[in-house]
Amino acid sequence: MTNKPRSPAQYKPNLTPAYQGSMLMIVAPSGAGKSSLVNALLQADEALKLSLSTTTRAPRPGEVDGKDYRFVSQAEFVAQRENGLFLEYAEVHGNFYGTSRAWIESQMKTGRDVMLEIDWQGAQQIRELIPEVQWIFIFPPSFEALEERLRKRGQDDEATIERRLAAAHIELQHAHEADFIVVNDDFEQALVDLRNIVAASRLRAGPSMARNPALLRRLGV
Ligand code: GDP
Ligand code: ADP
Ligand code: 5GP
Repeated sequence: MTNKPRSPAQYKPNLTPAYQGSMLMIVAPSGAGKSSLVNALLQADEALKLSLSTTTRAPRPGEVDGKDYRFVSQAEFVAQRENGLFLEYAEVHGNFYGTSRAWIESQMKTGRDVMLEIDWQGAQQIRELIPEVQWIFIFPPSFEALEERLRKRGQDDEATIERRLAAAHIELQHAHEADFIVVNDDFEQALVDLRNIVAASRLRAGPSMARNPALLRRLGV
């Protein structure tokens, strides 16, 4: 029996053909620390790009349009949704959030590593479309810590905090669907864990082989 050389594409059957990067999504209850962790991760890793979501939520103090989110009206969100501009979208805590289809597609074409900070409903939609996506779930060390962090952040009113704490119980049930769990108790340790996940994700067989076609040819793989 002959051993036919296998093309790298066979190792990543459901991925966009040219995709050589890693796609990661971070899901966590509000206040678990995902934005702080992702910001720290991005500062130390220039190859990783964060998806800029569109939202109908009002900006928090200090949040900048085009940097934290694209802040739009309800009517504008609906118009973009009707025009198919979102790869996924969901209603979260009474506001709409969506991921730009064009941006994700352009990143995938150029083989970039991308990070999505989205809720579990969006994560389920993305996994359906891109099964190779790596789903990371961030746990707070306790409900008490979650509440304390939401209050200390000082950016949401009492009703918003109550709503987000109630939603946390539901959000946490979706941790079973994740590929990785990071406990954000000690921030620095959580950051190390995240960096390790990104590194491992880059070494998966599919993307590694897609990055090294010449080596595969030389090795007859
Ligand atoms: P946070 O939970 O304190 O970070 O508050 P945010 O208002 O920034 O985010 C609210 C929720 O919306 C979180 O669960 C996010 O992960 C989620 N979210 C943000 N952007 C998107 C998006 O583009 N799509 C989806 N589906 N969810 C998003
Ligand atoms: P999320 O994006 O998940 O809503 P944030 O990144 O905004 O969460 O973090 C919520 C609050 O908790 C922020 O004030 C942040 O500084 C704080 N925080 C994040 N990680 C830790 C940690 N490991 N220990 C203590 N406080 C933390
Ligand atoms: P916040 O309003 O506190 O910034 O975000 C609230 C929730 O919305 C978070 O869980 C956040 O991850 C989620 N979220 C932010 N952007 C998106 C998005 O583009 N899509 C989805 N599905 N969720 C998002």
